[in-house]
Amino acid sequence: MKLILFGPPGAGKGTQAKLLIEKLRLPHISTGDILRSEVKNNTDLGKQAKSFMEAGKLVPDSLVTEMVRKRMQSPDLKNGFILDGYPRTEAQAKALDEILEGGIDTAIYLATSEQVVVQRLTGRRVCPKCGTNYHMTNMPPKNDMICDQCQVELFQRPDDNEATVKNRLAVYLKESSAVLDFYKNQGKLEHVSGDLDSEEVFNIISKKIAAL
Ligand code: ADP
Ligand code: ADP
Ligand code: ZN
Repeated sequence: MKLILFGPPGAGKGTQAKLLIEKLRLPHISTGDILRSEVKNNTDLGKQAKSFMEAGKLVPDSLVTEMVRKRMQSPDLKNGFILDGYPRTEAQAKALDEILEGGIDTAIYLATSEQVVVQRLTGRRVCPKCGTNYHMTNMPPKNDMICDQCQVELFQRPDDNEATVKNRLAVYLKESSAVLDFYKNQGKLEHVSGDLDSEEVFNIISKKIAAL
């Protein structure tokens, strides 16, 4: 199954992806995670992407699409994937359809209110080792600021500060409706409220997938 998780920053795409990969046994592709690793490793792509990410702007379509095109060639994706963070623009949605030939199967839209995403992003803390997302109040780790699995200290993403969050939301508002329309017109858009508890969201998504 070729599944896309779409929604504003902080909607819970990464959190749901982690739950879904356990259930569906499919690889998780997060363009944000790939880009952060490119920045960390100071690759050519990382050097080009860094300033956009720090400012809460989108990395140019051409760079991200080339990155996705390469990733999609990998044989581990023969049974499908869960793609999180791409496409974010209409041009990216069109490019993905070309890359995949038959297109995707379903786009899950986590519709989440602005107030909720701001609270989630500013409280988000991430494990540097396994990438699990925690939240200071919504989903705290068992021990103060330490990953439950890896026992290493969590960190706050540099782009999860209030000013950058504002930019990211503005970008989302500008670009999202064209992407939603794109999948709606294909009859592939599934609408789920992202404001609900993580477990509830997961149950709703699971039912939608089972009914496909
Ligand atoms: P995204 O990948 O869409 O940016 P994340 O999955 O990283 O979102 O979630 C953003 C933050 O909100 C994280 O700190 C996460 O722990 C928390 N979170 C995710 N889903 C929920 C939920 N349904 N209810 C409350 N908090 C959530
Ligand atoms: P979130 O879901 O919290 O917004 P991501 O981890 O998906 O964050 O993305 C972090 C940053 O990486 C984005 O703000 C953007 O700069 C860049 N990025 C990720 N995916 C894309 C994409 N598909 N197109 C352009 N930029 C992207
Ligand atoms: Zn961890």
